[in-house]
Amino acid sequence: MQVMKKVLFLLGLSFLFIGCMGPDRSNDLVVIDAGHGGHDSGAYSGGKKEKDIVLQITKRLYKELKSKGYKVVFTRNSDRFLKLGERTRIADHKDAKVFISIHANAIANKSRYNVVEGVETYFLQKTRDERSQRIAARENASVLKGTDKLSQDVIIDAVLNGPKIIHSHKLAIDVQKGMMKNLRNKYPDVKNGGAKPGPFYILVGASRPSILIEVGYLTNPKERARLITSDYQKRIAKGIAEGVDKYLDNRKQQQGF
Ligand SMILES: [Zn+2]
Repeated sequence: MQVMKKVLFLLGLSFLFIGCMGPDRSNDLVVIDAGHGGHDSGAYSGGKKEKDIVLQITKRLYKELKSKGYKVVFTRNSDRFLKLGERTRIADHKDAKVFISIHANAIANKSRYNVVEGVETYFLQKTRDERSQRIAARENASVLKGTDKLSQDVIIDAVLNGPKIIHSHKLAIDVQKGMMKNLRNKYPDVKNGGAKPGPFYILVGASRPSILIEVGYLTNPKERARLITSDYQKRIAKGIAEGVDKYLDNRKQQQGF
């Protein structure tokens, strides 16, 4: 009986140990993309530039993913502009499991600055929703400079029906949930904008599941004040990393390896 107890105890310990180690992520590459950069500041409000805030969050995300054992590649890790082709070339790295582009939102209508807020995650899909179209148009403006309307439609139609969309949608849901969980632990009033379709061109080129995150509205004073703090940025980064974990775990289970 005594021996049996010892065996059970050791067995319990070893399960605990394996559980703590977590899954092996050393073959999982995540490409992370801080939006804009260089001459392209992205959204600008209250003296804060989108390109700076998203670079800070992307660097925090790099640390989070590395600590979980992932391989991680930046599209940019300094204040420089990348053409759409350069971004997608890096995004389409042959080993990449997922591509994550990070942005911050803004609205034009000043009378609604205090009203419009929240965290949103987009996957590539055409939509009739006017708000999503407006946000995509703003984000697309700098990356599509010099591309005519016809080739824009050709690019977007080429990927819309592939299996990538289903996976991107699932990834978007898991990442959005991860962010909301971590943010609401301390900031219960953060608005959940959900996982939504949107015609974002930065997501077109990557053949892997790809999402674009709008971490919040720079035009909203409360959200802007939070977005520049390290605590809020860390919660976003942690939430994204947990979402990637969950998505890849589910995918591996479905594929049976
Ligand atoms: Zn942006």
